[in-house]
Amino acid sequence: MNWEDNVRKVIPYTPGEQPTGEVIKLNTNENPYPPAPGVKKALEDYDISELRKYPDVYGGELRDKLCEVYGTGKDNVFVGVGSDDVLAIAFLTFFNGEKPVIFPDITYSFYDVWCDLYRIPYEMIPLNNAFRIVKEDYIRPNGGIVIPNPNAPTGVEKSVEDLEYIIKNNRDSVVIIDEAYVDFGGRSVLPLIREYDNLLVVQTFSKSRSMAGVRIGMAFGDSRLIGYMNDVKFSINSYTMSRLTISAGVAALEDNGYFVSTCERIIATRERVKKQLSELGFEFPDSKSNFIFATHKSVKAKDIFTAAKDKNIYLRWWNKPRISDYLRISIGTDEEMDALIAFLRDYLDGNI
Ligand code: PMP
Repeated sequence: MNWEDNVRKVIPYTPGEQPTGEVIKLNTNENPYPPAPGVKKALEDYDISELRKYPDVYGGELRDKLCEVYGTGKDNVFVGVGSDDVLAIAFLTFFNGEKPVIFPDITYSFYDVWCDLYRIPYEMIPLNNAFRIVKEDYIRPNGGIVIPNPNAPTGVEKSVEDLEYIIKNNRDSVVIIDEAYVDFGGRSVLPLIREYDNLLVVQTFSKSRSMAGVRIGMAFGDSRLIGYMNDVKFSINSYTMSRLTISAGVAALEDNGYFVSTCERIIATRERVKKQLSELGFEFPDSKSNFIFATHKSVKAKDIFTAAKDKNIYLRWWNKPRISDYLRISIGTDEEMDALIAFLRDYLDGNI
């Protein structure tokens, strides 16, 4: 017997690279634009003497502001340290049965890591050949369901009607819809939380609100769901949302105009880049997110990925079944995307 026999061993999630220096970073779906101007002001004006006190365990003013903006009650909102924190607590809270939790085979690669960490049985349901979720496949015995919408890394959106079909036919399971990318042209299932007490909707400030570095995520659901999540959270760490984070989050929510215009800008860039990628011989499922999941008709994704990195353009590539010929390209500024397209043109013409 040795202490290592008692270690909880797990193969961790691999985040995208965070290179330093002058690079074009299109590998982690960050927003290329800064947070709303009010965020800077809120942090600059913050009364530092307040930091001696613990923050509110529920996220205080941030929770209040979320209720106002999203039209929910206080008991329907949970805030956490990015949606990864919210999802990790949701998995620990709700997926405590014997039956497998189900999610797509091509999806956010953190879901199976949490299942392994918490010893939750799971089954991956294959997407069809067009990388689409087949709703009937989710009508089977299960211990819970997780679906990102739009899905990652495919960018494909599932309709609210199809998701409702899955939620309605699984009233005995908690269904988590991970809406990390919904603000880039997708439709949210949020209004359905009033009707279905088994629906948890998870969102984040990391993408559409340009605040990946601040770490704010939230979940919306029936008050009983949120109550159970708080019980688990308060059994680990009550004070997860720092006072500075709460102030920055409130300031971001106060500027809806900035939020809407930034999302619109990214959508416009995305639609332009789709056309340019098609012209260069790429194919991709239609994306409703801030990234495009593309494969080239004749050139291997891995070769493009490596050549781009040599030119300081970072993309995301996974050496995994079904997707090893795809690149996930985050949408950056127009200038960044122009540089990417210029590189791809040269590379595919054999000039690099
Ligand atoms: N869900 C999905 C589908 C994601 O792609 C990400 C980003 N890696 C997250 C959740 C977590 O994002 P964050 O913790 O920054 O909110």
